[in-house]
Amino acid sequence: MDLGIRGKRALICASSKGLGRGCAEALAEAGVDLVMNARGAEALEQAAQEIRDRFGVEVVTVACDVTTPDGQAQLIDAAQGVDILVTNAGGPPPGLWTDWDREDFIRALDANMLTPIALMKALVPGMMERGWGRVVNITSQSVKSPIPALGLSNSARAGLTGYVAGTSRQVAPSGVTINNLLPGIHDTDRAASLDGGVSKKEGISVEEARKKREAGIPTRRYGTAAEFGATCAFMCSHHAGFMVGQNVLLDGGVGNQTM
Ligand code: NAP
Repeated sequence: MDLGIRGKRALICASSKGLGRGCAEALAEAGVDLVMNARGAEALEQAAQEIRDRFGVEVVTVACDVTTPDGQAQLIDAAQGVDILVTNAGGPPPGLWTDWDREDFIRALDANMLTPIALMKALVPGMMERGWGRVVNITSQSVKSPIPALGLSNSARAGLTGYVAGTSRQVAPSGVTINNLLPGIHDTDRAASLDGGVSKKEGISVEEARKKREAGIPTRRYGTAAEFGATCAFMCSHHAGFMVGQNVLLDGGVGNQTM
């Protein structure tokens, strides 16, 4: 399917690896020029070069921490005039509800709620003026089915979800759609580190921890970054203009719910 976005330009945050990289590759395949970001400059430049070589699109890199005001300013500067924004950042650490103080919540809210809001506030007005835009926020399955050990993530992402629910309806008349994409377990470094946590906690090998987690998914496997990216690219496509304020869950069927 032609996604109808060839020649458009996108900012994809936190995209040298994992889900962000999957989104960058799928958008590049659809002919979209990219601004890519991560903190580690070397892995970022390598990912950007692979994408330039494979898809022939223009890729600008901005090595910075997207969760800091300085990082956001650099990204907003490089991304002036973008048509597509994909927000993403690393997730907060796991723990127990008794572990977290005000400062832990402030950090999680900054990274996973206030950062995407700041980027939308800066870049959506230009999209509205031009009459076309797409925003996809990478959140988590925890928005629909809270994960007990990820209380900081549950809280921050629920806050972003509430913001998007209202804001998406306000900007839709100008041709801009905002939606969230909710990953369940996908085969990335983040998933491997969570496998490591289960392995430590239960005294089993990392392979056994992964098998155990896979057994709990109706597909009996983790999702791939390529599948995730393809869904993101569709949500950024010309065809997705009637999708507004939705939370699209990619969890292999883990959430045992009818709707
Ligand atoms: P990942 O494989 O660890 O990749 C993270 C990417 O983001 C890397 O390119 C990393 O590069 C970059 N990054 C991290 N923090 C950053 C920051 N502060 N500023 C700029 N770039 C940053 O992670 P992932 O699995 O793709 O996860 C992406 C998001 O989805 C996370 O918020 C995660 O919690 C959420 N999620 C993932 C899963 C899953 O199963 N994978 C499930 C639910 C939710 P640098 O380290 O060089 O910055």
